[in-house]
Amino acid sequence: MSSFQTKIRISKGFNSRARLNNGVLDISLSRYLNDVQKKEIIDKFTVWADKKLSNIDREWQLWQPDFHDGEILRTLNKNYQLVFHKNEKKLKIKLRGNFIDVFLDNDLDKVKIRKSIMNVLAKDNQSFLTYYLKELNKKFFHGELNKCLFRNQNSRFGSCSRKGNINISSKLLFAPKEVFFYICVHELAHLIHFNHSKSFWRFVAGIDPQYKEKEVWLKNNGWHFG
Ligand SMILES: [Zn+2]
Repeated sequence: MSSFQTKIRISKGFNSRARLNNGVLDISLSRYLNDVQKKEIIDKFTVWADKKLSNIDREWQLWQPDFHDGEILRTLNKNYQLVFHKNEKKLKIKLRGNFIDVFLDNDLDKVKIRKSIMNVLAKDNQSFLTYYLKELNKKFFHGELNKCLFRNQNSRFGSCSRKGNINISSKLLFAPKEVFFYICVHELAHLIHFNHSKSFWRFVAGIDPQYKEKEVWLKNNGWHFG
């Protein structure tokens, strides 16, 4: 079940209509309906909107890799294949083109392995992130962008400091590109508005009109904004 706001208006005509606008269900009801009919129509439109928004949910999959031997890791920028080597002295990760060699010691700690691989991915995609943010900044914001970094953060999708340093969670290397775009837009918009004021959201909506659906998606996938 998606969560969305509903706005209801009464129209002068005979027809009732609904539309989804930035994740808000906008219903216009004919004034000629009685209360029972109104309720029926609102229910019908709510089911329709819920279906539409959950389709977006399904389209935008956050792919969570399992980090096993032979697995292909598809990131926004590049694909990798994991190659495990067992019985090594120390856990070590080495990047070899599109292959990630994982030298495992006898302590097969999944969390540690995952973290080490994510560090390598973050580093290898650093220039991609910098390029992506710089281009977006040039196109829409003209803000004072400083350093851009992928960080291994889990719940916060990104942050922007007063100095213009932007951090993006490296987990988002596996996010749908539409959502990644929104997150970058959100953080870059903080170069212009350092808050979540009405002007901030209006500014974001001007660049990414679908931002509310993406906010819902992020919330449903356990993220909160920074
Ligand atoms: Zn923010």
